[in-house]
Amino acid sequence: MNVNTITYRNFRNIEQAELVFSPGVNILWGNNAQGKTNALEGIYCFACGKSFRGVHDRELLRFGADSGGLELCFTDARREQQLSLQLFRAKSRQMKKNGVAIRKSADFVGTFHGVLFCPEHLAMIKGAPALRRSFLDAAISQLRPAYLAALTDYASVLKQRNALLKQEDRDERSRMPLLDVLTVQMAELNTRIVLTRMKYIKLLDTSVGGFLEDMTCGREHASLSYQCDAQPDLYGENGADISRAFYEKCMSYAHREFAAQTTLHGCHRDDIQITLDGREAKLYASQGQDRSIALAMKLGEGELSRAATGEYPVFLFDDVLSELDSRRQQYLMQRLGGRQVIMTSCNESLFSGMDVNMIHVDEGCYEMACPVLHPGQGQEEQEAEEE
Ligand code: ATP
Ligand code: MG
Repeated sequence: MNVNTITYRNFRNIEQAELVFSPGVNILWGNNAQGKTNALEGIYCFACGKSFRGVHDRELLRFGADSGGLELCFTDARREQQLSLQLFRAKSRQMKKNGVAIRKSADFVGTFHGVLFCPEHLAMIKGAPALRRSFLDAAISQLRPAYLAALTDYASVLKQRNALLKQEDRDERSRMPLLDVLTVQMAELNTRIVLTRMKYIKLLDTSVGGFLEDMTCGREHASLSYQCDAQPDLYGENGADISRAFYEKCMSYAHREFAAQTTLHGCHRDDIQITLDGREAKLYASQGQDRSIALAMKLGEGELSRAATGEYPVFLFDDVLSELDSRRQQYLMQRLGGRQVIMTSCNESLFSGMDVNMIHVDEGCYEMACPVLHPGQGQEEQEAEEE
């Protein structure tokens, strides 16, 4: 899968721009605070349906603008496709896929596939479980829109359940019937989410182990497993049994949950357990080892996306190269052959002598070093187009 072009209008600090990418490695380079990450953020909005910076649509609009938007043109194995996202300060966003309006983000996600790797991901191994869960959620949602729908529904049930647990002005008995209904719904959604995550982690484990061994010439071995907060031993059973057991467990904890005023169990508290040579990476891995595992997880995410869709996703790397030592930098650049990569960097010299498409970024304006030739487009045709 390749991004051909993206246009921005009143998006972050970009008033108006069109970027044209080559199918290989593209580097957005320039000083700090010029619009490098903003450009990547725009592209990744099409992979995940939202900003990876966890902000509302209105914060994506250029300061002072009432509307703005993004249009992405990309090629997958079958054809060229267009996605558009229009943002408004005073009303909801509008989305289109190949010119046809789409109402739900879940129908938008899953068309364009991207793997994002940013400096925060380098802290994924030692950071809070939420970082590892959001890695999983972003990766799986792109491959299975039904998973994204289950996550959204789970978040809504969890919110209602927590609000109920906080209603101190009502006694526990009067709140019990609604708690029961919400727990049944939560149990069913929790089971779907956990089983999907477990399947994904099993596949990812093999891929990450392979990348890390390759990166360290067989010296280091990583292993990933899903750490389930509730009933870890039950997940070999069938879905209905798991939901029932989860429901029973939650209801048996109801008294404690009323006291804590929050939901104590569920996939919103799960984690990925990562071990390095049999020991917990969170406790023992060095900073360099952390980075290697995070890199292997991102490369693994790309492999799993390819296994599911038949082609590599677009790799979006925000300023991570400079965070890696030269051995890992070399490894990464070698492993990226045959994939489209869009990378940001402050350091132009890291890429000197490499066959890459350099795009200079300056105050929300983008200047390409030379015109990009797309596959299937002949040199003569391209020259004619430029005249
Ligand atoms: P760095 O190398 O420091 O990461 P960058 O080139 O990646 O820099 P960006 O994160 O893309 O920088 O941000 C560029 C500029 O956009 C910043 O000055 C930021 O304050 C500005 N900016 C962010 N949101 C908006 C917005 N909604 N409207 C206008 N400008 C914005
Ligand atoms: Mg940046």
